[in-house]
Amino acid sequence: MTKLTEHFTLEEFTRSTTANRLKIDNSVAANLMPNIQLTAIKLELVRKALGKPIIITSGYRCPALNAKVGGVATSAHTKGLAVDFKSSFGTPREICQRLIDANVQFDKLIQEHNQWVHIGFSSTNNRQIVLTAVKNAGKTIYKSGLV
Ligand SMILES: [Zn+2]
Repeated sequence: MTKLTEHFTLEEFTRSTTANRLKIDNSVAANLMPNIQLTAIKLELVRKALGKPIIITSGYRCPALNAKVGGVATSAHTKGLAVDFKSSFGTPREICQRLIDANVQFDKLIQEHNQWVHIGFSSTNNRQIVLTAVKNAGKTIYKSGLV
């Protein structure tokens, strides 16, 4: 195990049942490690704001894995700057509301279908964008704010 911060390991960022199943090597290239490290540091602040552990359900995605899970090519997941997570703190909506109330820094926070939270970070400019993903006629659309 490679420890990144007090509560996060590199393996939590790279593990993927899809990658395992399809034998995709989802290891992080050396040039992206600073991004992973930054994300882990930011996630410590998320964890602190929630007062509960967070479970990363999807962290880093190499381009091949990202394509397989239907991620957009420019996804922050491919840069090591975003994770999807859950927490026993509460529902995805409650988690998002708490992070906003606690003034946690992020670039993009998305409440995804009431199933998980996506959070992305930037090393230079965290824009505090909040979105809610919902299905509309079978397609995912993003609404501004928490709805
Ligand atoms: Zn995501």
